[in-house]
Amino acid sequence: MRQTLVAGNWKMNGSLEANHQLLKSILEGVEAGVNAKVVVCPSTVYLAQAAETLTGSDVSWGGQNLSPEKSGAFTGEVSADMLLNLKCQYVIVGHSERRALFGESDEVVAEKYAAALAAGLIPILCVGELLEEREAGETETVVARQLDAILEKSGVEALSAGVVAYEPVWAIGTGKTASPQQAQDVHAFIRQRVSEKSASVAEKLQILYGGSVKPDNAVELFAMSDIDGGLIGGASLDAAGFLAICRAG
Ligand code: PEP
Repeated sequence: MRQTLVAGNWKMNGSLEANHQLLKSILEGVEAGVNAKVVVCPSTVYLAQAAETLTGSDVSWGGQNLSPEKSGAFTGEVSADMLLNLKCQYVIVGHSERRALFGESDEVVAEKYAAALAAGLIPILCVGELLEEREAGETETVVARQLDAILEKSGVEALSAGVVAYEPVWAIGTGKTASPQQAQDVHAFIRQRVSEKSASVAEKLQILYGGSVKPDNAVELFAMSDIDGGLIGGASLDAAGFLAICRAG
């Protein structure tokens, strides 16, 4: 039985004041009782604030990105060890915005995934197709390619210590959600592909759905047999909405 995981990707939003309120409200909501494992991923500069507020609670926190390098002359970058310093447990890897806007290739994403794992962080690997790829019937080809980059670099066991998030790019921040069946089909495909290498890793792998998840569609999505929770962007900035999504699992 896989535990539902709901992770909030705050992207480049927030301020000390706004985060203080958001973290406090999420903490109170989680303490009042949710079954899902809850994770928040604020901007890197606010991770210390998250650590201060959340240490000792059931809410975990993580980075939105990391460098594949350990240290050195990489201006502006953040290493896995630095995230660990701020007591992160998780880190998002290969988000479609990183792939599209910052040119991260499958190979770079695989290096980042490996660096996160080597440091003891839990990587949340984002995969997903563009609208034109879906329309061309290439969804499975694209998702398989993104997944295979990890399998080839780090082996299937690397997925036993990570999480996969299926995020169709056309559904991110657009208000268009994949239907529960569309999402389930891709989640089942991911699990099937992993099971070709290891049935036990596939069975335990948490596969999250991301793309315009809201309180009013989360229950239906999370009810699908291969959907184990969500990676939530916009809706994670509103405590009441995010908590409602967390309770949907
Ligand atoms: C995301 O950016 O990972 C995401 C799923 O965003 P949204 O929920 O806003 O579509």
